[in-house]
Amino acid sequence: MPEPFSPLQALKRLQSVVPPEAGSIPLHEPLFQGREWDYVKSCIDEGWVSSVGSFVSRFEQDVAKACGRTFGIAVVNGTAALHVSLLLAGVEMGDEVLIPALSFIATANAVSYCNAVPHFCDVEERTLGLDPARLDEHLEQIAAMRDGVCVNRQTGRVIRALVPMHCFGHPADLDGLSRVADNWGLVLIEDAAESLGSRYKGRPVGRHGLFSALSFNGNKIVTTGGGGVIATDDEELAGQAKHLTTTAKVPHAYRFDHDRTGFNYRMPNINAALGVAQLEQLEDFLTAKRQLADRYAEMFHGLSGARIFTDMPEAQSNCWLIALILDEADMDTRNAFLELCNGEGYGVRPVWTLLHRHEMYRNTPRMDLSVSIDLEARIINLPSSVRHGRGG
Ligand SMILES: *Cc1c(COP(=O)(O)O)cnc(C)c1O
Repeated sequence: MPEPFSPLQALKRLQSVVPPEAGSIPLHEPLFQGREWDYVKSCIDEGWVSSVGSFVSRFEQDVAKACGRTFGIAVVNGTAALHVSLLLAGVEMGDEVLIPALSFIATANAVSYCNAVPHFCDVEERTLGLDPARLDEHLEQIAAMRDGVCVNRQTGRVIRALVPMHCFGHPADLDGLSRVADNWGLVLIEDAAESLGSRYKGRPVGRHGLFSALSFNGNKIVTTGGGGVIATDDEELAGQAKHLTTTAKVPHAYRFDHDRTGFNYRMPNINAALGVAQLEQLEDFLTAKRQLADRYAEMFHGLSGARIFTDMPEAQSNCWLIALILDEADMDTRNAFLELCNGEGYGVRPVWTLLHRHEMYRNTPRMDLSVSIDLEARIINLPSSVRHGRGG
């Protein structure tokens, strides 16, 4: 007989996978056991700590390769990568961009930085990503094609782009979403911030659509301290991305000419050095994280009323964050479990507050968000660091 879910029973199972420690256990912490120190030291020894230096281009190539792209452009963070991707995809002032309501705030903010409007869409429970079938129905109801451009009939604004996000590393339904993008003339940009190393139908995510934005923040699977990469297969756009993120400076031996309002979004060499060393360990990290996810799944199997989220057969998560999902939406139980675990020093976290709930996004267009609202009261992230997967 499986035991029914209770905060105490769930804590016991968590403790059997991740034993208690003297200090608190974060949700996700980085691991530096490769050549990080050597590479960072060489930046300092050689004086190339800033925006010039060989680690930046090495990191760009390594990331592009890891996600099956031709080009990578390193920037200061994942939000900047999303911002520039949207701009180069043609997102203009007053446009709408379709994004999941269940995401980190950066997805919506990047749209706002373009003076565009996030249009919140619902996710599906089987992937935790955007639901292509329901998105298509929603567009049938509210949108029309005018001269090859998708227009929101209710707001009169152009709907320019579609930004799927791979939640906690779990690939969204990319085939379905690509079809929606094609049918409605939308540019597809992947928010792949959480999903380096994840695979969809055997191929890496981060290689779909015009651009993919990756993050190398300190809490992601691979870190540069802070950082991001714009990945694309389009050589012309890759050049523009580099230009726009390096203050739009016109190349010249000594003159300072800039041909538009660019951004100072370059990744410093010292951060890229850290990233190159981290990427060398990606396969090991993925293996350890998969082991951790399997151990959690096994432990929680004997508990009814909740389960560890697992991918569809065609998808393979990088297991960035492990999610426990309650069978029924129950904020009281969710909150009691969060309180109990955090009191015991475990960095257990709820999913993000849904994006449409934020004050600045209250008056934005949206579809019915009932699945996201239901999941918000059911998702709990468990400590997911690589070292717990290695059992050490
Ligand atoms: C981390 C993250 C980002 C942004 O990355 P930063 O490097 O923190 O700016 C964007 N989208 C999602 C879904 C993320 O998890």
